[in-house]
Amino acid sequence: MLYDCHSHIDLINENEVEQILENSKKEGVKEIISCATSFYSNEKILALSKKYPQIKTALGLYPLNIIELNEEELKRAFDFFRKNIKKAIAIGEVGLDFKYSTKKEEQEKQTRIFSKFIELSKEFNKPLIIHSRYAQRQVVEILKEKKAEKVLLHSFTESKKLMKQASDLGYYISCGIKTLTDENIQKNLKEFPLKQLLFETDSPIIFNNEKAHPKKIKLIAEKVAELKGISFKEVEEQQEKNYSKLF
Ligand SMILES: [Zn+2]
Repeated sequence: MLYDCHSHIDLINENEVEQILENSKKEGVKEIISCATSFYSNEKILALSKKYPQIKTALGLYPLNIIELNEEELKRAFDFFRKNIKKAIAIGEVGLDFKYSTKKEEQEKQTRIFSKFIELSKEFNKPLIIHSRYAQRQVVEILKEKKAEKVLLHSFTESKKLMKQASDLGYYISCGIKTLTDENIQKNLKEFPLKQLLFETDSPIIFNNEKAHPKKIKLIAEKVAELKGISFKEVEEQQEKNYSKLF
């Protein structure tokens, strides 16, 4: 069985969801983790996962969405997370995004809230699904400093050096659609331990003019098997072990 560890099913038109789940199942995708972005998406994902057992909830706030929330709203959000965390498989997507947030005070706010999510993760023993655009080094530093225990770094496949740091710290990374075409990512994945690798599509985000679909997990797993020079079955089985260990 395969697993999509990072998607945004709440952003897909609701009348398409059933078909997407059906098609994914045909390609061997058993579960799809849907990560929250805005505060509103948390409620939507909880409702979707209640309706469709194939969808698993990750509760959280996208780092860029944090900027616009005031302290009262943030407090309310964390009260909501505590109340509903038992229904979630993970906390995500949380982290830092310094590409579209360059002001010092915004970055500090993101960092402060990310630290709170790490504490929440430790308190409830839930893994973190982490976004780290233009802030990969900073994310690893905070995770290390706060002694985060269960970590999945999303789309963390560009820097061989940082991937090595992440694997030394016992973190997992997930590789996505770009694995199919990006030679740098392919080169980096060859050396990354399969024992800490998971797969994601970030559906329905658009890659190469095409909307990502969770069924593509199969293609990603096949590509990884090819890169590692091992069978698809070996990749699939190790991924099953990784998934059940982390989640
Ligand atoms: Zn995402």
